[in-house]
Amino acid sequence: MNIRADFDFPHPRTDLLIGGEWGGASKGKTFATLNPATEETIAEVAEAGAADIDAAVASARRALTHGAWPATTGAERGRILNRLAAILRERTNELVQLESIDGGKPFAATRRMDIPAAIDCLEYYAGWADKIAGDVIPARRDALTFTQRVPVGVVAVIVPWNFALMNAVWKIAPALACGCTIVMKPSELTPLSALWLGAAALEAGLPPGVLNIVPGFGADAGAALVSHKGIDKISFTGSPQTGQFIMRAAAENITRIGLELGGKSPSVVFADANIEQAVRQTSSGAFFNAGQVCSAATRILVDRSIHDAFVEKLAARANALRLGDPREPDVNIGPVISQKQMDRVLGYIEIGKAEGAQAVTGGGRAGERGYFVQPTVFAGVTGGMRISQEEIFGPVVSVMPFADEEEAVALANGTAYSLAAAVWTKDIDRATRMSNRLDAGTVWINTYGPTDARLPWGGMGGQSGIGRDLGRSALDNYSEQKVVWLQRAS
Ligand code: NAD
Repeated sequence: MNIRADFDFPHPRTDLLIGGEWGGASKGKTFATLNPATEETIAEVAEAGAADIDAAVASARRALTHGAWPATTGAERGRILNRLAAILRERTNELVQLESIDGGKPFAATRRMDIPAAIDCLEYYAGWADKIAGDVIPARRDALTFTQRVPVGVVAVIVPWNFALMNAVWKIAPALACGCTIVMKPSELTPLSALWLGAAALEAGLPPGVLNIVPGFGADAGAALVSHKGIDKISFTGSPQTGQFIMRAAAENITRIGLELGGKSPSVVFADANIEQAVRQTSSGAFFNAGQVCSAATRILVDRSIHDAFVEKLAARANALRLGDPREPDVNIGPVISQKQMDRVLGYIEIGKAEGAQAVTGGGRAGERGYFVQPTVFAGVTGGMRISQEEIFGPVVSVMPFADEEEAVALANGTAYSLAAAVWTKDIDRATRMSNRLDAGTVWINTYGPTDARLPWGGMGGQSGIGRDLGRSALDNYSEQKVVWLQRAS
């Protein structure tokens, strides 16, 4: 395997993990994963095909019904999740390097956000594992009737690259707490942290076959996985286009699905807000991870009376952000993930200019090596423009003025997305009215972007998807109710 000396620890895993064993793909294929800051290959990774997916699903099925896993108690599953969390905590340095070099996110951001969030999520569901219970529901006087919570079965987990490890853990942790087994296909752009997690899970005591990791491409490994008859639930995070494909594939076998999809989230700033705070936090909401965040603040709606001053401050802040290699300290923004993504983002910048919006700052590529895009603020945007309707997934924001609350709500709700929204005001009545009226799975008031393992996360339908990750409700994704009637034999 060709692995560059990018890491200060023994080289990362690059094989498939199936049934607790590491091995190459059945056809011997591999693919390169790149460092998007340098465009250099980090490693060649085994590329799963349909036969490997068959093997992984069979292994997950066996582990669901035979061996140690079906015999574990909730308390034991909780202990395994806690041990896994402890390994992440102890070896955070390794994970920071893998995730940041593979995904392009600055080291400091991965260390501050992704890894602690993954650890917290594992510990949160560790706490649930022995509390997933049914109810005794008296229905007849002559029978004991009760429900049990049983695992849904074999879960297909498919995740994107922007929070590769964290998004994987959001699904794996509750699925394991419920007693499911898993076949996970990480993004072909960021396979390394998933493989690391697979090794750590074995070390934490997870029986072989419970968590299988099969890197590969969406059109091959992904499509084979979501159309597999041996899958009981598909838990997907990614683009609306892939979500549509998965929904159609799931219809064939009537497989359960959860779809966490895209966003075009509004941040609505009223004149009575703390403007400095709104600029600061909306800017990080827009540019964190080079804007490659499903809930990025991509549409900033500003009261007309403060619009020009706001644009000026936001542009100054965007200008002051330091772009650079994620390994360097003090870098705020890394590259976008790939050449394709950079071309897409630059394409949208050109569309915005052609539509008549003004790039107040940014507006092009930064440098010639690595996939860096300048943080770009568009003013003069209207609600009908493509840049204000379509998910760009890069460091590009549109600022639009509004005259009153009515217009703010109409603009905020005027897209096909419904993932998240923010409101900036000191008026509690207005904050309440706005949060009631905004079509969003999460409404932040006087803040932008926090998520927490305890709070359900997801869209209100449309292009943002269906279902919820996180919180108590994620337990419903991975367990099913079974009713038992217990009657005396006559
Ligand atoms: P993507 O849909 O291209 O890929 C996501 C995953 O799906 C990858 O693992 C990919 O290999 C796989 N895939 C692609 N085609 C497939 C197919 N035909 N069958 C099965 N699997 C397939 O998305 P992306 O570009 O990696 O990620 C960006 C998208 O993810 C954005 O739309 C973003 O908003 C969304 N996202 C949403 C959330 C959320 O919580 N709602 C979080 C992060 C990202």
